[in-house]
Amino acid sequence: MTNVTIGVLIRNSTAKQVGNYRSEAQYDMGAVIEGRGHTPRYYDEQGTSGSDLSKRKVAMRMLDDLKSGVIQGIAAYDFKRLTRDEFGIDGGTIARRIVEAHGQFHTHDREYNLRLDDDLMQFQFQCFIAGLDWRNIRNTLWSGTFKKLEREPHFMKTPLGYMNVTDDRDKKHVAKNPEHQHVIDALALAFDECASLGEVTRRLNRDGPQRPTFHGRGGESKRWMVYGLRYILANDIYTGTFRFGLHTKERSTVWDKFALDEDGQPKDFEQHVPELAYWDAVKVRRWRRKFNKPSNTRMMKNGKQHPLAGMLECVNCGARMISYGVGSYACSARGAGRATDGRVCSHPQKIREFVVLRLLREELPNVLADAQGLADRARVHLTERETSPTAQRLAFLEERAQSMLDSIFDEATPANMVDRIKKKMTANAAEIEKLRAQVVDEEDARLNDEQLAATCDILLANPLGILDSMPAERQARVYSLLFANVRIEIRGFGGGRQWRLQSYTARLIDEHRPVTSARWARCPHPKVQYDGIRPILIFDGQPEFMNVGNDTTALRYAAYLPSLLELGAAFSGA
Ligand SMILES: [Zn+2]
Repeated sequence: MTNVTIGVLIRNSTAKQVGNYRSEAQYDMGAVIEGRGHTPRYYDEQGTSGSDLSKRKVAMRMLDDLKSGVIQGIAAYDFKRLTRDEFGIDGGTIARRIVEAHGQFHTHDREYNLRLDDDLMQFQFQCFIAGLDWRNIRNTLWSGTFKKLEREPHFMKTPLGYMNVTDDRDKKHVAKNPEHQHVIDALALAFDECASLGEVTRRLNRDGPQRPTFHGRGGESKRWMVYGLRYILANDIYTGTFRFGLHTKERSTVWDKFALDEDGQPKDFEQHVPELAYWDAVKVRRWRRKFNKPSNTRMMKNGKQHPLAGMLECVNCGARMISYGVGSYACSARGAGRATDGRVCSHPQKIREFVVLRLLREELPNVLADAQGLADRARVHLTERETSPTAQRLAFLEERAQSMLDSIFDEATPANMVDRIKKKMTANAAEIEKLRAQVVDEEDARLNDEQLAATCDILLANPLGILDSMPAERQARVYSLLFANVRIEIRGFGGGRQWRLQSYTARLIDEHRPVTSARWARCPHPKVQYDGIRPILIFDGQPEFMNVGNDTTALRYAAYLPSLLELGAAFSGA
């Protein structure tokens, strides 16, 4: 037989689920192939969890290589490595591709010639068995998991602060990890004291404590990342409630089999486990509120701030502009030809920071009018909330619950009424539960009122004056809170270049605005003398009357409160 190249498929297929086989053992397949007189070429699929072939990119590439003649055959340790499709369709596809390419097929045990009926039948039968096997393994795993979820918290990956302990019957349970206590304490302190999650990560990465080692997508890590902090803030286990299912994106056939309730709806699992709580719910809600609308400010690795990155969009292609040297920004397609989001840009824009800031300064009165409108409304809300309708409704329902309870035990109540009252009480109880949570939220929000009132005072007084007196970096931070999706038009070349604001999103009220009346601006001529301070940019013509006082009445308190507070913090330099 001539020397041919055989593609060797390596899969680790979630070792925990399958158990014995290790990927190293599969690399022995290379030796086996060499032993059979061929050259192995590895296709490493480890870490791919896709169960059907179309989602297995490496396997698809291998099949393409087979078709184009790069390899002349395929090898897999066994059929379980080859296919994981419970319906056996993948096996058929792979067999057909091998036959079409006149290729070979090898397993650890033997070589198959799929053009022979006997071998083809063996192949199909083995794929079928592999499918059944996968189904069994998966079902055993999941039926156990769902049974456990009915009783107690269970994590695929134990969150920070917790560990699995084994009881005397060799069963695992989630418990607090005392070795993580100091980390949890440091987190709470940082959440209290920092203004953004970015600041929290910088502080923890600089001053410690280190994040306990975890296995992420990029391998093992001890670094803190914003993404991980968001996960912690969103996970109710830290306040003593375990939830599973509510946010599960893909509910596969496994759910249909094991986790449907009596009405045929996918089950959500929830347990109250106060013994696992680290923080109280009110505190966590306050943190969530503080961090849930992050500013777009980005820091470069060297600590140099590029506050406008994330705010600017390339006027040509709409891609996000990124920092491009000191004081400059450029379309992320510059250099690469393709932006970070994959789009192609024929004229990647580049712009200087001082130009952007000066153009936005012209638009500022309009945007600050939004802020002032909100500040006005916030003041109204502050007084309105003195008598909360939610709290009143709650008191009413609690009273009614008591009277219903009384009537159940009242002998004068006819027996056939008792069931109906009980049903009503259940509904009542559900609403009470919901209102209680709302009332806690409202009280929590009230804690922010003092800060908010101060913010309103600043915004209603003389925000432009205050802003102009602030150092450039802090001004840029305020701009990044007010503006998003900023696009700037450019015309002319060299010294004759001109700029004007084309469109932007007013972040406070989340409204996209084309700017029709913006004036063109250019740099002052280097040889011309100017009276007083030399202008940064010179604008054509006279400013048009500003369209101030946008209608903000439709906005709800909760929707704009975080932005307003963040803006207040930026203004007051906190
Ligand atoms: Zn572009």
